[in-house]
Amino acid sequence: MIKDTYNRVHNYLRISLTDHCNLRCFYCMPEEEYDFAPAGKLMQAHEVETLAKIFVEQGVDKIRLTGGEPLVRKDAGAIIRSLSKLPVELTITTNGTRIHEFTGLLQETGVRSLNVSLDTLHRDKFLQMTRRDQFDRVMQNIRMLLDAGFHVKLNVVVTKGMNDNEINDFIAWTKDEPLDVRFIEFMPFSGNRWSSDKVFSWQEILQRAAEAYDMIPLGRDHHGTAKKYQVPGHAGTFAVISTMSEPFCGDCNRLRLTADGKMKNCLFSKSETDLLSALRRGEDVLSLIEQNILNKAKELGGQFTKDFEHIHAGSIHNRSMITIGG
Ligand code: SAM
Ligand code: SF4
Repeated sequence: MIKDTYNRVHNYLRISLTDHCNLRCFYCMPEEEYDFAPAGKLMQAHEVETLAKIFVEQGVDKIRLTGGEPLVRKDAGAIIRSLSKLPVELTITTNGTRIHEFTGLLQETGVRSLNVSLDTLHRDKFLQMTRRDQFDRVMQNIRMLLDAGFHVKLNVVVTKGMNDNEINDFIAWTKDEPLDVRFIEFMPFSGNRWSSDKVFSWQEILQRAAEAYDMIPLGRDHHGTAKKYQVPGHAGTFAVISTMSEPFCGDCNRLRLTADGKMKNCLFSKSETDLLSALRRGEDVLSLIEQNILNKAKELGGQFTKDFEHIHAGSIHNRSMITIGG
């Protein structure tokens, strides 16, 4: 069992398969010109499997593949296949641009739930936010997933003045579709031009929703990051992920493995442990995992508090989101 000093049991591992991506979301990519990691520095498919097995032996029963964009990796299919044989619930977070190439494989390997990121319902704004003209493809792929009966959670990062005016359009989409829309507060990472005045907080999101809809609070799942709501009569739900204004660290069960094989015990942890190099040298990886988890801070990586108006983004030690894996 992977337990920290606050008695939190960690059974959920997020594995980043790559820091490469075919989109350029402004809140995720670092500001400066970014060099993707060379392939040799990334975990190879068999190394992903070996490390995942060590975590599973310690009680991890849920794995999410993420990135960068996990589905741009050439051997993503082989990795999905190998991890699907482990006794875990396997899920994926994707930008939706490549799903059409994987639908058969996802069905075959029992992946039933996907988080798809989409921040706008407008093609021109999608281009502005991601610097790539992939809106139609993503919309087609979401349609295809819904038609094929997958459980789709839609991740929407809300930034003030950019897409907060679309909150109710996203909620309208849940009327006839069993979609779970999740509005995510904008978080600070290295080089992402975060400032507190761009955060549209969960209270503001709910206020905006209340202008158009009645809603029933559905609460928060144990270990969940999302406070859920449903508009009466709607097929789907919506939720708010309030990492900045009301974090949910108290019952956190999440661990992270970056694409270059570093373990992070929190999205905002300062330190990381190089499991891949240890594995390559034939050293004991489990003891490194145990040491790492004992250093997990009580909340937000020990780097800031929910008083987000006073955060100086420049003083946070971390990677860019694309190199962590959200
Ligand atoms: N490429 C995939 C995608 O976009 O879904 C997976 C990786 S992406 C880093 C994972 C999630 O992190 C996405 O839903 C993305 O919107 C979210 N994300 C990235 N940067 C963020 C930030 N600064 N604040 C909040 N969420 C962020
Ligand atoms: Fe790529 Fe996902 Fe980051 Fe956008 S959020 S740049 S799609 S990794």
